[in-house]
Amino acid sequence: MTDRLITSLTNDTVKAVRALHMRKERETSGCFLAEGLKFIGEALDQGRTPKLLMVGEEARPHPLLDRARTETRAAGGEVVVVTHAILEKISRRDNPQTVLGVFEQTYTTLSSIQPATAPCWIALEQVRDPGNLGTIIRTADAAGCGGVILIGDCTDPYSVEAVRATMGSVFAVAIARATPAEFLAWRQNWPGSVVGTRLDATHGYRDAAYQHPTLVLMGNEQAGLTDELAAACDVNVKIPMRGRADSLNLAIATGVMAYAVTDAA
Ligand code: SAM
Repeated sequence: MTDRLITSLTNDTVKAVRALHMRKERETSGCFLAEGLKFIGEALDQGRTPKLLMVGEEARPHPLLDRARTETRAAGGEVVVVTHAILEKISRRDNPQTVLGVFEQTYTTLSSIQPATAPCWIALEQVRDPGNLGTIIRTADAAGCGGVILIGDCTDPYSVEAVRATMGSVFAVAIARATPAEFLAWRQNWPGSVVGTRLDATHGYRDAAYQHPTLVLMGNEQAGLTDELAAACDVNVKIPMRGRADSLNLAIATGVMAYAVTDAA
């Protein structure tokens, strides 16, 4: 089958994909943009096919690209071929990826989370930096965590920047959203330890006894974990700060905690 060729920067499909850089458009469409064959491969491996597969004219033949074309069409999606200029415009980069996919966003509800399926789950309060959130999703995947719960007003996990930082783990990690009140109510039934992370904690992160499944709460980049959420934890822990830095970057601190908990499993 011959793919539709698009050459105009003002084509409606191109405009709709470019608009996915804007949160409002992502919320309206329920879609997000993933760039690169690695991402497309991760998605296909998780049973997720793009609604739209966009292939650059200069894309080299690759078995994974053939698979993506076949599976996209089989699932009712569209495959289009576009010019390099269109890829640059969409990616806002001089050296864009030659394959892009538009996927449906997926969120897990708190009630459908099954804590016992993983030793560690990560909850983030008002994470604001898309790079941090994407890195945390990637790290949660790498460490073997079950998923990431976003509490309160968080940055969009499906922004182009956050998705890029996940390196494909956005397709592998369950993502849930909750208000603080919803989270606090749900936390009441958590079967293992609930561990907060605070700079003023007196327990060291290696001293705490983590009863699995462990739910680890991380605070906002500026304000830290609020008193309200810290009070809902069984214990709050601190990672030692041995030099002059007063705190770790949120994503780094999450990585330290995720491995401490999963290694203790
Ligand atoms: N000024 C903020 C504060 O007072 O908490 C700093 C926030 S820190 C950049 C962002 C988050 O990373 C914190 O809320 C906490 O979850 C985690 N974090 C960073 N360094 C940490 C440490 N040494 N021990 C425990 N958690 C830490």
